[in-house]
Amino acid sequence: MRKILIAIDGYSACGKSTTAKKVAAIFGYQYIDSGAMYRAVTLFFLNHHISITNPKAITKALSEIHLSFHVNLHGQTEIFLNGANVEKKIRKMRISENVSPVSTIREVRQAMVTQQHKLGKDKGIVMDGRDIGTVVFPEAELKLFLTADIQVRAWRRQQELLEKGSLIDLDSIITNITERDRIDSSRKESPLLKADDALEIDTTHITIDEQVDEVVRLAVSRIMKK
Ligand code: C5P
Repeated sequence: MRKILIAIDGYSACGKSTTAKKVAAIFGYQYIDSGAMYRAVTLFFLNHHISITNPKAITKALSEIHLSFHVNLHGQTEIFLNGANVEKKIRKMRISENVSPVSTIREVRQAMVTQQHKLGKDKGIVMDGRDIGTVVFPEAELKLFLTADIQVRAWRRQQELLEKGSLIDLDSIITNITERDRIDSSRKESPLLKADDALEIDTTHITIDEQVDEVVRLAVSRIMKK
């Protein structure tokens, strides 16, 4: 069966990664969380006090950052920064509050896109993010753009954080995802946009299983297409 590229973009906390992981598992594809890459860069910048207004420091920092993905014993993909598993650290609010400004930097985006192209060169991947269908893989066979009501998104993100041991109040989550959406949609470099040929799925009133079924159905139709 031929392998395809599946690009899933959309606003923060719309269920992109949950859907992408399940779809990847069904097809035996690799799941790449491009947001994790921007989060890991943000962690490095914060830990090394890299100012986002200092281009020289940014270039030097990017040359020192090595990112890789590894699958753990439970079959989940985790991100490593310079050999250390940072999957838990990058999900903290401290990173969520700083990642969007870091992601506006052209040099950061260029470095990430170069790596994303390498990861996708043999196809058979599901990548989620903000610019995957528009900039990273405009040739992807299946492009999706997820949306959902802000209250539902915030509630889902709160549950996710709770499962990881952090109790964050709903208002702080709403403030964070609204602000990230604003920065991600209005930035100059690769803003969050729906690709013209992306299919929009509103996940407000559907379950994860329904979401996954729909994406699998669409993916099968693309795989079968000559
Ligand atoms: O997907 P996630 O919410 O973890 O992404 C964190 C942040 O990384 C986003 O809010 C956005 O600023 C940035 N990002 C991006 N381009 C991507 C993926 C994520 O700018 N392809």
